[in-house]
Amino acid sequence: MSVKVAWPLSYNIIRGRSVNNTFGMVRKHANGTAKPHQGWDLEASSGTSCFAIADGKVEFVKLNVGDYGTQVCCSFDFDGKTLYAYYAHLSRVDVTEGDSMSQGDLIGATGNTGNAATLPTSEDHLHFEIRTKKICGLGLAGRISPMKVYGTCPLTSAAIQNLSNSMSLTANDLRCMP
Ligand SMILES: [Zn+2]
Repeated sequence: MSVKVAWPLSYNIIRGRSVNNTFGMVRKHANGTAKPHQGWDLEASSGTSCFAIADGKVEFVKLNVGDYGTQVCCSFDFDGKTLYAYYAHLSRVDVTEGDSMSQGDLIGATGNTGNAATLPTSEDHLHFEIRTKKICGLGLAGRISPMKVYGTCPLTSAAIQNLSNSMSLTANDLRCMP
């Protein structure tokens, strides 16, 4: 019996309704080779509250570090396994490392710290990952599609159709789609 995970925001939709902002090898380098995106980008103007998706514990907080900027990582139990909900580009953090969390507790506020600072304000978002390891490197290692815990991806079907026509996505890329 799976735990029911909650959404990280009160309103959750993939940024720009674009498959490029879902999980997987959904982006391209300048030379055309596939490039990973490690989580979902959820549209959120800076200052939007984000919440604990499940009961758990705050594993780490990082303030303004690297591409992810201000980050919070919370562990939770899912189907008997420990997973990690990871929030990046935050503008504010309301929790402390080691805190116990209940589902729905306020984590902080979204923002545009890290490499999101280069995007226009209209592209403000929460970068949200589901991890199998607390600390991850580059690539997709240590992450899974958030769809594995939600069973759905908040992306419209019209957008998928347009993008899959233009990008010739593989079956693997499409695994995040509703
Ligand atoms: Zn992202």
